[in-house]
Amino acid sequence: MAHSASDYDVLVVGGGPAGSTVAALLAARGERVLLVEKDRHPRFHIGESLLPMNVPLLEKLGVKNEIDRIGMPKYGVEFVSPTHNKAVTLDFAQGWDKRFFYSYQVRRSEFDHILLKNAAARGATVVEGCRVADVTFPAEGGVVATAKADDGCEHRFTARFLVDASGRDTLLANKLSLKQRNEQHKSAAVFAHFRGAHRLPDKAEGNISVFWFAHGWFWFIPLMDGTTSIGAVCSPEFIKARGTDVTSFLHQLIALCPALSARLADAEICSEAQATGNYSYRSKRMSGDRYLMLGDAYAFIDPVFSTGVYLAMKGGFLGADVVSAALHGTAAEARRAVRGFEAAVRESLASFSWYIYRMNRPAMRDLFMAPRNAFRMQEALLSLLSGDVFGHSPIKPSLVLFKCIYFIKAFALKHSAPRPRALPEPDQA
Ligand SMILES: Cc1cc2nc3c(=O)[nH]c(=O)nc-3n(C[C@H](O)[C@H](O)[C@H](O)COP(=O)(O)OP(=O)(O)OC[C@H]3O[C@@H](n4cnc5c(N)ncnc54)[C@H](O)[C@@H]3O)c2cc1C
Repeated sequence: MAHSASDYDVLVVGGGPAGSTVAALLAARGERVLLVEKDRHPRFHIGESLLPMNVPLLEKLGVKNEIDRIGMPKYGVEFVSPTHNKAVTLDFAQGWDKRFFYSYQVRRSEFDHILLKNAAARGATVVEGCRVADVTFPAEGGVVATAKADDGCEHRFTARFLVDASGRDTLLANKLSLKQRNEQHKSAAVFAHFRGAHRLPDKAEGNISVFWFAHGWFWFIPLMDGTTSIGAVCSPEFIKARGTDVTSFLHQLIALCPALSARLADAEICSEAQATGNYSYRSKRMSGDRYLMLGDAYAFIDPVFSTGVYLAMKGGFLGADVVSAALHGTAAEARRAVRGFEAAVRESLASFSWYIYRMNRPAMRDLFMAPRNAFRMQEALLSLLSGDVFGHSPIKPSLVLFKCIYFIKAFALKHSAPRPRALPEPDQA
């Protein structure tokens, strides 16, 4: 056993976007921060498309110039629908707030490494290759973590406060039996990198494309080095029943989507295909006495709007204030900080979920494929897609109107003559 003193103010478990963000901010405020990461960066991670609202966060962290060097500029989203026989591109520049007109596609190995090094540069102690196995909250205060390093050494770390940023490993939610599968929305994915994919021309080269197909949808994410990330999002049952290896299955799925097949006609797969199980879940709590959960350690819904990294980093910014209040504020200040944090996180997830749960429905697809800016609804939708879900945003009334139109459209479609449909309802998908 090494390391035994109660050495730290804050222990952060996980060096993904959430953990590195909160660690950097707290260390810069003078807290003694220990970040423990089970892997060694750079390491592969899925989730390569960022939102425009990520950009100011990168600026505040002081890493924007570095991300500029590794990131493919992303100015919009292309939606391709087989039932409409066309593609539609929505540019972030047409959003409500014109300042947020671009973002990036990134290799997460590079992106996460930059954020982790930044946390260390700002004063956090970073230990890589060390998995936190358990955490306890002794009656006398603080938190004790036991961990095992990849050289076999066991460690014991103590701190005053714990931030769980362990991603889909959901360290605390598992330990406290708080994890709940999302019954409203289940999905899983198969994905790989391809070389030689046909990209959109000119400035649109870095746009993400979303291709709907009979079993769900694909992402097409062009990366800076010429490779393109391709993933299919389908029901977990469909992926589980594949009956073949993951790579062959991914090729079979691509063949079911002619528009994507055309873009990949001259491309070759250049990474091993991977599959995830059902990843839609939420913890019953996101905070408690001496702890906070951030990013995927609390919840993950779906990748369709590329929200995961943004929510993880924004959670890191909001969470840093909760930790500061817990360490230095009065009990009332600490409670107020937690309430504000929880309300903001819940509201942001609810804002995105409403659309995500309906993305495969014909009425929603019709609205996305025929964008109209009456009452600034299109601008509002684009701002939502940029990540404008925190605080008192002016886009809300226009989004309420969009929802009303969605319900009218859904009602009308339900009561009109059946039309040929290539896509199943979400509960069948
Ligand atoms: C198929 C798929 C596609 C996605 N596509 C996108 C996308 O295009 N855009 C987007 O923004 N998001 C996307 N996401 C979501 C995105 O990947 C996550 O939301 C994001 O990575 C969350 O960041 P995080 O810091 O919370 O967790 P993570 O990035 O997962 O980081 C958690 C870290 O904790 C470490 N860790 C875990 N357990 C321990 C432990 N016990 N001890 C020490 N370290 C530990 C892990 O090694 C990891 O480095 C996608 C997700 C999936 C499943």
